[in-house]
Amino acid sequence: MKRSQQIGCERQIRFTEESRRNSAGPSVSVAGQSNEPGPDCPFCPRLKDYRDANRALHPHWYNAPVHSFGPADARLAIVGLAPGLQGANRTGRPFTGDFAGDLLYGTLTELGFARGSYEARPDDGMTLVDCRIVNAVRCVPPQNKPLPAEINTCRTFLRATIDEMPRLRAIVMLGRVSHDSTLKMLGIRATVAPFAHGAEHQAGSIRLFDSYHCSRYNTNTRVLTPEMFRAVFARVQDYLKT
Ligand code: SF4
Repeated sequence: MKRSQQIGCERQIRFTEESRRNSAGPSVSVAGQSNEPGPDCPFCPRLKDYRDANRALHPHWYNAPVHSFGPADARLAIVGLAPGLQGANRTGRPFTGDFAGDLLYGTLTELGFARGSYEARPDDGMTLVDCRIVNAVRCVPPQNKPLPAEINTCRTFLRATIDEMPRLRAIVMLGRVSHDSTLKMLGIRATVAPFAHGAEHQAGSIRLFDSYHCSRYNTNTRVLTPEMFRAVFARVQDYLKT
């Protein structure tokens, strides 16, 4: 086990109802009227039931929709899939607390898109530089597999997050679900911009970059190597210099 994972286990933050509400932003009464869902977002019944079950099982975990991380005036957005059960769903910050975060934050730090020391906990002081991370689906799904209806419903919040980024020039889409949902959000047909690791597509003023998701499964099977992942962000870095 890596040191960062050990720290996350040893010094786990204990969420209470009040702290979860304070960290989870405003509530919404109608979809589309807020850029972040409230802690009890009811729009996906299956995910709400799963959230309730996890709150009962793990009352000191975050167990709420995970909000975007990073400044709204960033030029780069990274769109992930959904919170991992023991990762972001536990800690409350995207990609924080499981293997995917080790690779993502390590790569971002190396290329200057993040600053600080990633310690797999939301108060480790990490900051993102010109970069913002958001998930296509804000609530943890069973077996890491959101249903199409859930992806479609949560796109309301993905769109709101992207819409509030006035300087946005690039989006990295981690995996096919992220790719497909981002394309739908932008009104682009999938046949025009097929998913492939390392592929790039232009959507108006925004450059789209595809990458395999940085999951433990993909790296263990060598579908994605750290070098392949780094190369995508190096391309983004070059693009943002133009
Ligand atoms: S996935 Fe999104 S839309 Fe569905 S319940 Fe969670 S926050 Fe609400």
